[in-house]
Amino acid sequence: MSNISIVKKTIVNIRHSLRFFICVSIAVFIIAAILIVFYKKAYIVKYNGEIIGYCSSKSKLQERINKYIENGNSDNENLAYVDIEILPTYNLTFLKRSIETNDEEIYNAVISSGITYYKYFAIQLNEEDKYYVSKYTDAENIVQKLKDKESNNMDKIKIVERYDTNLASFTAIDDCVSGLYEEKPKPKSKPKYTPSKSNATSQYIPNLGIDMIEPVQGIISSRFGIRRRDNHKGLDIANSTGTTIHAAASGTVTYAKYNSGGYGHLVIISHGNGIQTYYGHNSKLYVTPGQYVSKGDPIAAMGSTGISTGPHCHFEIRVNGTAQNPQNYVFRGR
Ligand SMILES: [Zn+2]
Repeated sequence: MSNISIVKKTIVNIRHSLRFFICVSIAVFIIAAILIVFYKKAYIVKYNGEIIGYCSSKSKLQERINKYIENGNSDNENLAYVDIEILPTYNLTFLKRSIETNDEEIYNAVISSGITYYKYFAIQLNEEDKYYVSKYTDAENIVQKLKDKESNNMDKIKIVERYDTNLASFTAIDDCVSGLYEEKPKPKSKPKYTPSKSNATSQYIPNLGIDMIEPVQGIISSRFGIRRRDNHKGLDIANSTGTTIHAAASGTVTYAKYNSGGYGHLVIISHGNGIQTYYGHNSKLYVTPGQYVSKGDPIAAMGSTGISTGPHCHFEIRVNGTAQNPQNYVFRGR
């Protein structure tokens, strides 16, 4: 075969494959055009196992939901968090253009399941809520002003943190001070006033009436009290993922599931008399709600679920809903 005929054959081959390529391209283009004309990209949204609609933008909708969890509907400065138990799932699909997406309805359906929690502070006199204030600094301010005025009832006043689904009505600082102030009795045998650290909360440690054991072994990675960003309601005990967590005392499991408020897989045990213990961020749960557990029973495996930076157990002791410093009862002096 001559060189010329090889070149000819090659050109014919190229022409053939080029024609084929063009045909395929046109077909793809026509199919795409039909898709674009009649169909649109959308997401099937499932919530709690059920299809609740179609949304046009998964990222926009999820961003709105996340924003809601963080801020709720308002810019209320007392909003602590919104608890939405379940988040929707999305599946990409092509939807006939005639079918409307309903992002707004889906958003409303998801957030309607949310429970908003507010955080504020109660000023108590003799363990009874007298006034509510918005911020901890306001509460401290009131205690300090009463101290400066040498109010006679300082030992009966304390600040208690409240998390509630209803926001209390707040009282102005000066009104709280004048309402709480108690004059010292007249006979002025100057009392031996020992200036103590101004911390009304730390003076009051409720007696649980039960003994607790340390629920998990590990190192204390974060303590109870005021942190830079939030008020830490528990004690963090860090160890490796899977470390067994035990019931600190006997009681009934009242919660054992994923908590979207930041606790991750959470166990709550009720010990009666308003005493509860919380165990957060678990990787596995070994108990179910309604189950009775004895002190020391394994209830969960350590993890890092929820808002957590590494495997640890977030342990809380609450008395009538108020978080207490766990180190007054367990892990003392650690
Ligand atoms: Zn914690």
